[in-house]
Amino acid sequence: MLRAAERVVVFTGAGISTESGIPDFRSPGGIWTKMAPIGFDDFVHSAELRREAWRRRFAMEETFAAAQPNDGHRAIAQLVASGKASHVITQNIDNLHQQSGVPAEQVIELHGNTRYARCLDCGARAELAPIRAHFEAQGDPPDCVACGGLLKTATISFGQAMPELEMARAEAATLACDLFLVLGSSLVVYPAAGFPRLARRNGAKLVIVNREPTEQDDIADLVVHGGIGETMRVAVNA
Ligand SMILES: [Zn+2]
Repeated sequence: MLRAAERVVVFTGAGISTESGIPDFRSPGGIWTKMAPIGFDDFVHSAELRREAWRRRFAMEETFAAAQPNDGHRAIAQLVASGKASHVITQNIDNLHQQSGVPAEQVIELHGNTRYARCLDCGARAELAPIRAHFEAQGDPPDCVACGGLLKTATISFGQAMPELEMARAEAATLACDLFLVLGSSLVVYPAAGFPRLARRNGAKLVIVNREPTEQDDIADLVVHGGIGETMRVAVNA
């Protein structure tokens, strides 16, 4: 199917990043089953919960900083570099697709990116290292240097609106593809999980690679219940 396809869209979820040592927050036993995530409204309205959100983020920093792209990321980067794949739509926030060599403009991040921060008011980008230094020295995160607004990791929190531009780009890419390849997503989180259905309805082939069964195995043209790195390395090399 890869050989026959002219325009592939790759859609990735937590399963590709767990192969790089990043825990799946939503899985049974994952962080969110032990510690409820801090919703967007709570973050905006409570200084204490903002401090808690930043404490949790900095506690994860070593994990994110140590994570490197794996064979799955590299196989995808190869598909993009060859011109076979047009876009990578991802639910992940770890920046590993960009680190594996996929140009940033071809990565569509539905849930944002946790490797940097943005001002909630003016949208200015801010780096995490100086925020952490300020936080550790003062006990509070700094405000935006441009406008004094609140800084938050550039992720989409529970209760925060989905990014309109990214959703529109993902829809356009999905409608333009002839093969939609899902890697490491159980396809339960909407609206992200709507894209494979949309691709299928629009006539594209649908392939799912995931260790566990997914919600959309029944509509896929091919389902592989296995590791992503091992599967994609072989498939792309072939
Ligand atoms: Zn600002």
